Amino acid sequence: MMTYCGGCQCGAVRFSITVPELIVYACHCQDCQKHTTSACALSIPVAISALEIEGPLSIFSRETDSGTTTDCHFCSTCGTRIYHQSARSRDMVTLKGGTLDDTRMLVPVAHLWVSRKQSWMQLPDDVPQFETQPDDLKAWRAGLISAS
Ligand SMILES: [Zn+2]
Ligand SMILES: [Zn+2]
Repeated sequence: MMTYCGGCQCGAVRFSITVPELIVYACHCQDCQKHTTSACALSIPVAISALEIEGPLSIFSRETDSGTTTDCHFCSTCGTRIYHQSARSRDMVTLKGGTLDDTRMLVPVAHLWVSRKQSWMQLPDDVPQFETQPDDLKAWRAGLISAS
């Protein structure tokens, strides 16, 4: 097992995840472009039991297109988005990759919502791409973790 540490921009929130392997996928949907204020989100799916976190967190809940709710946890002080948790999978979270202290090992294993991708971003041909997202996103994420 490996432990990776990270935190928010102001340092009030700190966390660690302990996982067999760091798995990350990129999502290019407009919601991810909005919350990252960037071209895509780097999402790290982890079991909630693998996450240790401390600091002042606030929650913004939003309805998703698939009809469920996602809780978006962010630093109460500086607003950095830390992780998302779906009402459909309370045992798992998706950590925001840019919050890791060392982001150099973040190489996406897949790209979601490439139909919304910024036109200038070139994706590698040998990495799976989804026009939208896997039909069963929860099962797909769980498969990524269990394969690691
Ligand atoms: Zn902060
Ligand atoms: Zn997205």
